[in-house]
Amino acid sequence: KPMENRITDIGPKKYDQFYPPVIAKNKGKWLYHEILEPGVLVHVAEGGDEVYTVRVGGCRLMTTTHIREICEIAEKHCDGHLRFTTRNNIEFMVDDKSKVDALKKDLETRKFPGGSFKFPIGGTGAGITNIVHTQGWIHCHTPATDASGTVKATMDEVFKDFQDMRLPAPLRISMACCLNMCGAVHCSDIAILGYHRKPPMLDHEYLDKICEIPLAISSCPTGAIKPAKVEWKGETVKSVAVNNERCMFCGNCYTMCPSMPLSDQIGDGIVLMAGGKVSNRISQPKFSKVVVAFLPNEMPRWPSMTKTINQMIEAYSKDARKYERLGEWAERIGWERFFDKCELEFTHHLIDDFRDPAYYTWRQSTQFKF
Ligand code: SF4
Ligand code: SF4
Repeated sequence: KPMENRITDIGPKKYDQFYPPVIAKNKGKWLYHEILEPGVLVHVAEGGDEVYTVRVGGCRLMTTTHIREICEIAEKHCDGHLRFTTRNNIEFMVDDKSKVDALKKDLETRKFPGGSFKFPIGGTGAGITNIVHTQGWIHCHTPATDASGTVKATMDEVFKDFQDMRLPAPLRISMACCLNMCGAVHCSDIAILGYHRKPPMLDHEYLDKICEIPLAISSCPTGAIKPAKVEWKGETVKSVAVNNERCMFCGNCYTMCPSMPLSDQIGDGIVLMAGGKVSNRISQPKFSKVVVAFLPNEMPRWPSMTKTINQMIEAYSKDARKYERLGEWAERIGWERFFDKCELEFTHHLIDDFRDPAYYTWRQSTQFKF
């Protein structure tokens, strides 16, 4: 019921209004599901009802033209229903096996002028599904790298594994463009993380005029910012000082204070992490570990990043046991061998034993040794 009898258009309508009839009818009664082939699933309910799903890759930022085409496909084959997965895939569902081939054929024949698939089928099971990612240069203010660009470059490189299920187990890649990590990269098999390496610059001329100085000070998780009076163009102005030794380049201060920008062409780049997962299968959930401390931003295709990711995927696909996730494989063979097999250099930046008085209550490692 609208509060105060106001009707607003804020927020989406309740999701269950959009269930396909067969989903609404069988809520809570699904028995099992199978992957019939890459990108095609069947769910079977207690009473025998079936739902066939064709999953296609999507992207996080879509044009209205593209969304209209998605809706047209849904109208044509699925009585107007579709769903988006958490990893930005699109799922078209039909309630009868006889409808699957026509849907697949329609999706496969829709192509961009250059000939690439508009709606590539895949992203299921022991392969690589779409990358969950953040805003990047297109929309956020603290990114150290781009999100859409790095994701497009990576997905183009690993596309065969989106369409296939040849890997030992699912491999999830995530991307976040700064270490605030809207992309939840800390628990993915392979993570791309944007990383700043320089402390914020201080624009003393405007800082006191456009920032709440106490807010900027309190925004710093390491206590690196303190109030300061500085000489600026012959005047004493209120501003802040940053203890660069304490700065971890997180960008929180810039979120609070636009006069503390920290983007830098040379300083900014990418960290690669590996070995995280959220599932309980075979072993407990894991946080990812940093495996490449820094790669430069190489727009528009980030070749060093995609090459390194490919090295990890190929070594994992050759060496891991069936059902073993990337982190489980690395732990079984030992992280030393992981670096050898993936042809990655081990540096002191990768030693995972961070301790600081602010965090004495627990020790930071992938296993949270309390
Ligand atoms: Fe912005 Fe950082 Fe989130 Fe990227 S990860 S969208 S830069 S806050
Ligand atoms: Fe503090 Fe982060 Fe700003 Fe550095 S970038 S001064 S750690 S808030």
